[in-house]
Amino acid sequence: RRAAARALRGGGAGAPRAASGAAAAQLRRRLESELQEIRGAGTWKSERVIASRQGPHLRLAGGGAGIINFCANNYLGLSSHPEVIRAAVEALEKFGAGLSSVRFICGTQSIHKDLEEKIARFHQREDAILYASCFDANAGIFEALLTPEDAVLSDELNHASIIDGIRLCKANKYRYKHMDMQDLEAKLKEAQKHRLRLVATDGAFSMDGDIAPLREICQLAQKYDALVFIDECHATGFLGPNGRGTDELLGVTDKVTIVNSTLGKALGGAAGGYTTGPKPLIDLLRQRSRPYLFSNSLPPAVVGCASKALDLLMESNAIAQSMAAKTQRFRSKMTAAGFTISGKDHPICPVMLGDARLASVMAEDMLNRGIYVIGFSYPVVPKGKARIRVQISAVHSDEDIDRCVEAFTEVGRKHGALS
Ligand code: PLP
Repeated sequence: RRAAARALRGGGAGAPRAASGAAAAQLRRRLESELQEIRGAGTWKSERVIASRQGPHLRLAGGGAGIINFCANNYLGLSSHPEVIRAAVEALEKFGAGLSSVRFICGTQSIHKDLEEKIARFHQREDAILYASCFDANAGIFEALLTPEDAVLSDELNHASIIDGIRLCKANKYRYKHMDMQDLEAKLKEAQKHRLRLVATDGAFSMDGDIAPLREICQLAQKYDALVFIDECHATGFLGPNGRGTDELLGVTDKVTIVNSTLGKALGGAAGGYTTGPKPLIDLLRQRSRPYLFSNSLPPAVVGCASKALDLLMESNAIAQSMAAKTQRFRSKMTAAGFTISGKDHPICPVMLGDARLASVMAEDMLNRGIYVIGFSYPVVPKGKARIRVQISAVHSDEDIDRCVEAFTEVGRKHGALS
């Protein structure tokens, strides 16, 4: 009866209850002022709600059907592939919802071992270890591998998770200018005094769609006796003739020691990350890497998705090839229309606009024409380099791509972005 009375007063079990006390009130005021600052700085990120599966065509909550989606990392269109979904359902039924455990207590199933073996085979490495995300893989590797006797040399535009992972380790830290080989060489010379040197770079950089000069990096690494680590989140599954990644694309598979990547983008898009490389390194990570040791095992349905995605890619390189052709179509048509597209041959196609307001209003106008793209401005990208980032997927049709180019041309003319 007391619960019913509370429900009548609007204080039922599900209703939020504000914490009481002076400290809670002070926290609330501080948070509200910080949120106001974010809004005031124009950097507030709002989230559009999708009411359908992830794919090239979406329905947005509250209306908007038939939207063509150009802003997911669903490079190969596997996020809603029928075989990937079936594999997830089968794994869910056979192996359950989840493990309720970390791997080393009672959280390792045969499917986890099979997926690790498959990832290592896909990348032509000795072994692999799964994490809940690539963010975790990046958070776990540097601290486990490097000591104060060692050094890590990191590209200044590396992903936030690499930066955070490096922060957590006690090695000597060097940051080289973005893809600047002269600067990397200078830093490598300086780092000769340390026991071990590790060069860490994104294989492909997600804001610019540019690809790390891995051949040159590997040459320098050889000259100065360093190891190379790459983050392949925006490369695995589609760069290189067989989609193995940047190292395959640039012919340096045997020169890159460690690869971290995600299962949450091209490889089915569910979630999960991994490290693949020499067996003793993977063995050490299982003993020492904190996000692996102290976090739940990947759920079976997620393992099922990634495992099927890898099967599809190892059977044929047709999907990766089709994505490359679509990328080429978009890049060449947009360039012919008068736009500047950053990067080269990568499905991340940043349409460079410069002005932050222009990028934001153009993205909004594109959505009004049924094309879902996102504008990026400072502090996500440098001041004066605002852009709309377009991401191509193997499952976009030629017509989807042509509609996107037409909409850009119309909107670009309307806002004076095209001469
Ligand atoms: N590394 C790079 C380069 C990324 O772009 C991302 C995701 O945005 C990550 C790591 C993190 O991957 P995950 O989503 O698996 O945590």
